[in-house]
Amino acid sequence: MELYNSLIKETRALFEGAAPKTWEPGSRDAWKDLGASELVLQKDAAFELGAQGKGSANYVLFTSNPELVGKDQVLLYGPDLGQIRGETDFARIVLLRVGVLDEDDEVVYRTLKDIEFAKYHVYPEGYMVRMSPESYREQVRVSKAALKKGISFKAIGANYIEAYKKNPNVLNAVVIFVTQPGLDYKKMQDLAKMANKVTGTLTHILEGLPTDCSVCALKDVCDEVEGMKELHFGVGDKGAKH
Ligand code: SF4
Repeated sequence: MELYNSLIKETRALFEGAAPKTWEPGSRDAWKDLGASELVLQKDAAFELGAQGKGSANYVLFTSNPELVGKDQVLLYGPDLGQIRGETDFARIVLLRVGVLDEDDEVVYRTLKDIEFAKYHVYPEGYMVRMSPESYREQVRVSKAALKKGISFKAIGANYIEAYKKNPNVLNAVVIFVTQPGLDYKKMQDLAKMANKVTGTLTHILEGLPTDCSVCALKDVCDEVEGMKELHFGVGDKGAKH
């Protein structure tokens, strides 16, 4: 699974030179999960992350390369939840190392989708997440009560790592939280969009789209993403035209 590697490298490059806070939490560090979504009312909220008018981005990238993702980690660029005083920019980026996905491409695609859905099964107490997949944003309302109890990105990251690793194909998960004002959130959204296109193209390929690149609407993606054409010609019509 090397299709997303260049996006992982571009993501890492966005933070080059910055020193993140870094944790390798275990499941005991996880915040209490309510098992279902909770409504945090505005009057009970301390602040919102990634609200309208603020930078916001959310995406997941996959690799099978242990040099790109080699351990379970939470990284934080910017202030932690306990230090934030008002509405702020916010991104959550997840890098997953997956295994045994190279044999059957249909299994690969279904597995990637299953893994992505893990993000809808994380319900930390006092941390209400609203996602807008069509705009690649994620907004979080954090309750005053959770702040009093000491909620932190280390704990929330542990919840996500636990949720992703429920899928046996996920070997390692790196959860990156970004709250630093003034970073390139627009570029993060562009990377999110590209990741979505890669996954979408993968679907079309696996649905048996004709393999004629000269008339294919997805040519832009395949020209840019290393390994996409090889994948298509490997699983589709062997008489493909480039
Ligand atoms: S490899 Fe060519 S035919 Fe296949 S999806 Fe990409 S551009 Fe289209």
